[in-house]
This record gives sequence, structure tokens and C-alpha cells, in this order.
Amino acid sequence: MDFALSEEQQSLYKTIVEFARDVVEPGAGERDREGRFDRDVWDACGQVGLTGMCIGEEWGGMGAGAVDTGLALEALSYGGLDAGLGLSLGAHLVIGAKPIELHGTDEQKAAYLPKLASGEWIGAWGITEPDHGSDTSGITSRGVPDGDHWILNGTKTFITNGPVCDVFTVIVRTDGAHEEGAGGGGMTAFILPRDTPGLSVGNVLDKSGNRSSPTSEMVMVDVRVPDSARLGPIGTAQWAIGFECFSWERTVMLGSAIGGMQRGLDDSIAYAKERQAFGKPIAHFQTIAHKLADMKINLESARLMLRYGAWKKDQGLDHQMEASMAKAYVGACALANADAAIQIHGGWGYIKDFPVERGWRDAKLSTIGGGTSEIQKVIISRMLLA
Ligand SMILES: Cc1cc2nc3c(=O)[nH]c(=O)nc-3n(C[C@H](O)[C@H](O)[C@H](O)COP(=O)(O)OP(=O)(O)OC[C@H]3O[C@@H](n4cnc5c(N)ncnc54)[C@H](O)[C@@H]3O)c2cc1C
Repeated sequence: MDFALSEEQQSLYKTIVEFARDVVEPGAGERDREGRFDRDVWDACGQVGLTGMCIGEEWGGMGAGAVDTGLALEALSYGGLDAGLGLSLGAHLVIGAKPIELHGTDEQKAAYLPKLASGEWIGAWGITEPDHGSDTSGITSRGVPDGDHWILNGTKTFITNGPVCDVFTVIVRTDGAHEEGAGGGGMTAFILPRDTPGLSVGNVLDKSGNRSSPTSEMVMVDVRVPDSARLGPIGTAQWAIGFECFSWERTVMLGSAIGGMQRGLDDSIAYAKERQAFGKPIAHFQTIAHKLADMKINLESARLMLRYGAWKKDQGLDHQMEASMAKAYVGACALANADAAIQIHGGWGYIKDFPVERGWRDAKLSTIGGGTSEIQKVIISRMLLA
């Protein structure tokens, strides 16, 4: 058993932290206030390979696995303090590009992956609908066969990168459509380039945190696409593609939350040593020192749990339980640590000049996006009781 990062992993982490300090952190607070996605910062991420982190080298990516992609997101978040960028990048990688790499035809991979890997194109993914989030089995967006084409209708919401994406992979209901050998009914995925007639960006959502990541509806009105736009077999997308996406989200994307926790702890330690009350640094009060200790315990246990799930994924081992445990646990720890960081900063922690203020707004998403904490406990308990 070896818990240590390899030299290559340490070097990857250090390089990305330095990049993030130089390129991402300046302006991160302003982007949060303005709720602005910055294309220049995105392009800079593309130039250092981040936009192709877990995409195969044959498509221009870095070919990294789950552990290393999570580590890259952790480093980006730690150095850059821009949770929205981590969200956009994570979604682009693991739910935008990865389904195409895992399930696409050679033509689909060649058409999309090089542009996604370089960052020239931005990926997005849509399963959630206004009336169906946790209950993905209830989605009502529909795909109906029309000769060798399909007609898609419906509205997806909460789409990370929606307003800026170039390619959108969507899951729709295709009950009644059949494919020999693949069963029938259920749900099917389609890859829609941004300029597909009938596809448009709907309402742009004004979020509490992760504000530099743009989020919107994606609306399909009589979108007519050839069967070659279909991703994977008919009728199996909910399980074969949707749940696989969730497992990537739960073991990899939360790397950003770990980086945010590390930064919140570092900032809180520095503040507690410097801030004086009653004639001494507040770090000398046991209530403050113990908050720091609790933050450290949360951080290291959350990091281990996430990396264990990612490691199992990389080994090809079953990791559904670990992915759900990581999602629920990291979310709870991230939120608790963000709250403690504000408390340690006192009134200043509640003021927007201090990065810990946005830490709480950013951390809250870890308990919602990619499947809520409640849903993770439903999954875990079902597995325990099966
Ligand atoms: C910033 C952001 C980005 C997102 N990005 C994307 C994206 O790129 N693509 C995409 O498709 N989706 C995306 N989502 C959607 C996200 O996955 C959903 O918000 C999430 O799955 C919850 O769905 P919901 O919001 O409809 O809540 P609901 O399903 O309505 O849940 C409401 C509450 O009820 C609880 N609940 C529901 N069912 C159960 C149950 N069976 N047992 C116990 N409790 C239950 C939930 O835990 C929650 O507390 C994003 C969301 C956000 C906020």
C-alpha cells in the first residue's frame, strides 16, 4: 500500500498551482462579483493542457486517469481560488468530453475530441430538466425517429457551460424506439453541436456561488439530427452513459472542493496567527485552534476518500459505493470547513474582500450538483441493504 504521490504527480500539482497563482487567481474575485466566465483564462488552461487532461493522447489530450485529473483540479482550485473555473473545466472534461471518448464512434471522436482537448471547443452535458433533477428516470425531453433522422424536443436546465458551449451532449427519452440487439425504449444520448438548428440557450441562471462558471437552460425545438448524432446504443443512455458520468463527477470533479478546502485552511491559519484579540493572536484561543484541527481532519479524510474512489476507478474496480461516499462526505466536509473559515475570520469573513466569504457559497454546490448528498445516501443504503 502506497499513499504517496509519485514524483510526476507532485510535479503536476506544483506546476498547476504555479500556473493558477499567476493566471487564474488575479481577477478571480472580480469574476465572482460579475458572474463572468473569462475566455482568456479558459484559453490559458487549454495552452497548458488542462482542457484535455483526461482525454486520450491520440486525441490531443494528456491521457490522465481519474486520480491525476482530480489532482489537477485540486491544484487549479488551490492556486487559483476560482471554483467556477474548476466547475466549468471539470464539466467540460468528465461530462462533456469523456462520454464521447467512451461511447463515440471513430467519426464522432475525430470530429469532437481534438477540439475539446485543445480547449478550442467547450463541452457541456444535459440530463437535468426543470421538473426532474434527482429523478432522472422521469425526464420528458423526447427523441422521435424520423426515417434515418431523429427529432428532439424538450428543455434541459442547470447546464454547466450552457451559454458558452460548442458541443452539447443530451439525454432524451426514446421509449418505443428500437435497435436490434440493444433492447428498446428508455433513454438515448445525442451529440449536438452548438449551431444545430432548433437548439438554443434558454434562461441563464444567476447562481449564488461558482459564479465564473456560466449555467443555463438548453432548449430543443424540433431539433432534427441524423442518426450519426446518436451517442451509444438506443435506449441505454441513462445507465450506460448517465450513471458513468455521475461516477466521473463524484470521484474526479470534487478535486476542486479539496483544493478549496486546502486554501481555506491555509488562509485561516495565517489569519489566526495574525489577528489579535484580548492582547494575543486568536490562534492562542483553544476554540479557534481546535477549529483549525477539525478543518485539517476534514480535509485529509475527504482527500483520502476521494482519491480512493478515483484510484479504484483507475484500477477498473467497482467504485459506485466509494463514489457516492466521497460525494456525500467531501460535500459535508467542504461546507463545514468553509463555515469554520468564515467563523475564524469573524466579521471580516463575511465581507466580500476576503476570499473565505465566497468559499462558503462555492462549497455549497458540492452537496447538490452531480447528485445531492441525500441521493448519495439513498444509493449507499440501497447497496448496504441489497
Ligand atoms: C451549479 C449547478 C450546475 C449543474 N450542472 C449540471 C449539468 O451540467 N448538467 C446537468 O444535467 N445537471 C446539472 N446540474 C443539476 C444537478 O445535478 C441537480 O440540481 C441535482 O441533481 C438535484 O436535482 P434538483 O435540483 O432537481 O433537485 P430535486 O431532485 O428537486 O431535489 C430537491 C430536494 O429533494 C431531495 N430528494 C429528491 N429525491 C429524493 C429521494 N429519493 N430521497 C431523498 N431526498 C430526495 C434532494 O436531495 C433535494 O434536497 C447542476 C446543478 C447546479 C446547481
